Amino acid sequence: MYKGQKYDFLIVGSGLFGSTFAYKANQAGKSCLVIDKRPQLGGNVYCEKTEGINVHKYGAHIFHTANKAVWDFVNSLVPFNRYTNSPVANYHGELYNLPFNMNTFCQIWPDVKTPAEARARIDEQVNDAIKLLNDANDANDVREPRNLEEQALLLVGRDIYEKLIKEYTEKQWGRRCTELPAFIIRRLPLRFVFDNNYFNDPYQGIPIGGYNLLIDKLLEGAEIKTNCDFFREYKDSWRDIADALVYTGQLDEYFDFRLGRLDWRTVSFKTRIEDTPNYQGNAVVNYTSHDVPYTRVIEHKHFESFGQAVYDNPKTVISEEYSTEFKTGMEPYYPVNDDHNNFLVDQYRSLAAKENNVIFGGRLAEYKYYDMDKVIERALSAFV
Ligand SMILES: Cc1cc2nc3c(=O)[nH]c(=O)nc-3n(C[C@H](O)[C@H](O)[C@H](O)COP(=O)(O)OP(=O)(O)OC[C@H]3O[C@@H](n4cnc5c(N)ncnc54)[C@H](O)[C@@H]3O)c2cc1C
Repeated sequence: MYKGQKYDFLIVGSGLFGSTFAYKANQAGKSCLVIDKRPQLGGNVYCEKTEGINVHKYGAHIFHTANKAVWDFVNSLVPFNRYTNSPVANYHGELYNLPFNMNTFCQIWPDVKTPAEARARIDEQVNDAIKLLNDANDANDVREPRNLEEQALLLVGRDIYEKLIKEYTEKQWGRRCTELPAFIIRRLPLRFVFDNNYFNDPYQGIPIGGYNLLIDKLLEGAEIKTNCDFFREYKDSWRDIADALVYTGQLDEYFDFRLGRLDWRTVSFKTRIEDTPNYQGNAVVNYTSHDVPYTRVIEHKHFESFGQAVYDNPKTVISEEYSTEFKTGMEPYYPVNDDHNNFLVDQYRSLAAKENNVIFGGRLAEYKYYDMDKVIERALSAFV
């Protein structure tokens, strides 16, 4: 504790929200105690060094933003490298570039060589889908898809849907595409240029040396306690040690789940060391067919090693990602924004608005999926 005084802020959670808030507070001369129930700092961006490689323990994290101020802010703390996300899809051993672009179209249809030919092939298949849908509905112009399969067929046609969307989506959701609602896929962007860069943002990269360096910089000047659960140690007494609380844990847990539990989706990882310098030649490979049980394989070294440097380390670390049904005790990763959860979260938000001197921030406390840049943006503006 600072010289026997109260802290200005008790910050629950050392993820990007809590750490960025602590940075701003420290810059303004405020004192912070940052606690985290995990043994490490950084929340979901924490990386574990294995065989000299930064392994993204809680899922692959690629920083991308259109916000120059956020990009300049993070780069002022740690310079970022030139990593560009360009995933590859593996469908029964056939390889396709993602996102859907001219490379993908030429791989799917070897006779297609130009953007006009690709457009024509997709239009032809979309028209077939419209006809099929009309026949099924015994109508002349029914374009309203009844499920995700029909939606995808109307957007991209049969070949792209069957090779790159259908079984991957079924693995992700654990249900058939014909049983999933159409709104899950609102848009499927198609690029008629040879461009494998997954993101459209102008700024993209990974902190040189890994995300832990960024978190260490953000937390400089704050007092830290890991393995410290707010509910066990401070829930009833925090006002004795701090003037204000920044809470980045689960919103429903703060209120002791009194209105019911919010649902989450999760992912599980199987990580292993491979005795080869280069396992798959890319950081991200999606497995889009049912014969492989996992959805993606991440090869972590490719986030930070390029060219010859890939071979300087004779080993590599890979993680298989499995879509997993969420159960209490698992990592809550993605909020479920259906009617039931939207209604429940609104009720919890009303309770949160009545709490004095408590800021609820970040993905768990706001029950919203945010990319990292958005979380940083929100934490920077939450400190006033
Ligand atoms: C699988 C996955 C992949 C992602 N990939 C990307 C990506 O490629 N690019 C991108 O921009 N964004 C990505 N994101 C989003 C990114 O993870 C978030 O934007 C960011 O990590 C959110 O930071 P946060 O501080 O809100 O939450 P978190 O990082 O979850 O931090 C919250 C912290 O609070 C702690 N905590 C919770 N409850 C308590 C308690 N009771 N007591 C003490 N501590 C507590 C937790 O242990 C945790 O450390 C991804 C998210 C997931 C789930």
